[in-house]
Amino acid sequence: MDHALYFTEQHHQVREMVRDFARQHVAPVARQLDRASEFPWANVKRMGELGLLGVPWPEELGGTGMDQLSYYITIHELAKVDASHALTISAHTNLGTSPIVEFGTSEQRQRYVPLLASGRVLGGFGLTEPGAGSDAGGTATTAVERGDHFVLNGSKVFITHAGVGEVFVATARTGAGNGNRGISSFILTKETCDLDTCRRLGVGHEESLPRIKGFRAGKKEDKMGWRASDTRELIFEDAAVPRENLLGKPGEGFTNFLKTLDAGRIGIAALSLGIAEGAYEEALRYAGVRRQFGKAIASFQGVHFQLADMALGIEAGTHLLYHAAWLKQTGRPFKKEAAMAKLFCSELAMRVTTQAVQIFGGYGYTTEYPVERMMRDAKVCEIGEGTSEIQRIVIARQILGDLVG
Ligand SMILES: Cc1cc2nc3c(=O)[nH]c(=O)nc-3n(C[C@H](O)[C@H](O)[C@H](O)COP(=O)(O)OP(=O)(O)OC[C@H]3O[C@@H](n4cnc5c(N)ncnc54)[C@H](O)[C@@H]3O)c2cc1C
Repeated sequence: MDHALYFTEQHHQVREMVRDFARQHVAPVARQLDRASEFPWANVKRMGELGLLGVPWPEELGGTGMDQLSYYITIHELAKVDASHALTISAHTNLGTSPIVEFGTSEQRQRYVPLLASGRVLGGFGLTEPGAGSDAGGTATTAVERGDHFVLNGSKVFITHAGVGEVFVATARTGAGNGNRGISSFILTKETCDLDTCRRLGVGHEESLPRIKGFRAGKKEDKMGWRASDTRELIFEDAAVPRENLLGKPGEGFTNFLKTLDAGRIGIAALSLGIAEGAYEEALRYAGVRRQFGKAIASFQGVHFQLADMALGIEAGTHLLYHAAWLKQTGRPFKKEAAMAKLFCSELAMRVTTQAVQIFGGYGYTTEYPVERMMRDAKVCEIGEGTSEIQRIVIARQILGDLVG
């Protein structure tokens, strides 16, 4: 579609740059990384050099000084080729770095953001726990004050970059009871699990970062999709975290992570839309070349209907995504629109990738073509950063206000 309503010349340039990078460096390796469930370190280094790991942050903090829209364009464009690469940008930038940019002191920003924004090290965000998923207010990890330290005990599950990353923002309960006001957030540092590779490639590790004793990554998840993304537990066993690592004021952790998740939903919408568009483009091309009954399958009305529905959904998703992004960029309220964009685009990604596999027939069901990977990658978009059910709850609350219990 024509993005003239939302994009400036600079946005088009960002899109072209990311598109070239994705074609040249991501497309040739995406299948193999997915099969081997291997983290794309060589491309992380390249993305850091291109500034893609710090798109929306100011230059004085090591970012590129570009705007929010450029950041969402980056995720959208990468996801057309590979969702795992797009997730690396999204989890690192929004989940791992933005809480420090937004809620950190100037010392915390100076200490961590340049390392993250340049891609020197990767970041992540530890919120989900074994007993606290959709109900993140049920956080059970504890942080007990002892002199100039907090001692953390508990664990986080399904954390993107838990193994490969070195800087994390995680929530823990500092106050009494189950109230949301008892939750605080902390900056935690550890060594990457891929030290040898990182040293060899010169990316992903920073010697000067302290290793917090008792803070480590757990086992790597073997996932259906997003297989080239690293997902593991984060474990705290009497982890002694210096008081200066408290992020924001005590008790602000809950309200702050809700803000982080609102913005993150636009990122997952961009990622989902990218997957849908990538699958649609593959299906469109294949329908033109695959012949049955003496004709290209694109000449059958049954296939027209599928392609028309896919194109319609993508056009609608594009407006929802860039409208939510524009609201955020211009400082307007965007909670409802971010949830709508995430909900619509993630369900669209699942629908479109399933249709794309259908258009490819039996070939679509094999790893010879990327549409089966796209279909597997789409599913988790309906789960991560708030399930589809939770998005509907968020939207209903915005519409109904106090009428929702
Ligand atoms: C690959 C991957 C990467 C992830 N990365 C991160 C990360 O970096 N950081 C992080 O903190 N978390 C991360 N997560 C966790 C993710 O955010 C959670 O999985 C998600 O929020 C759902 O929580 P849950 O898995 O515990 O499911 P549950 O909350 O147990 O939900 C189970 C089912 O119940 C439904 N449900 C729950 N409550 C309600 C309700 N009130 N009304 C209706 N239905 C409801 C849900 O919609 C879902 O269908 C990741 C997850 C995955 C799979």
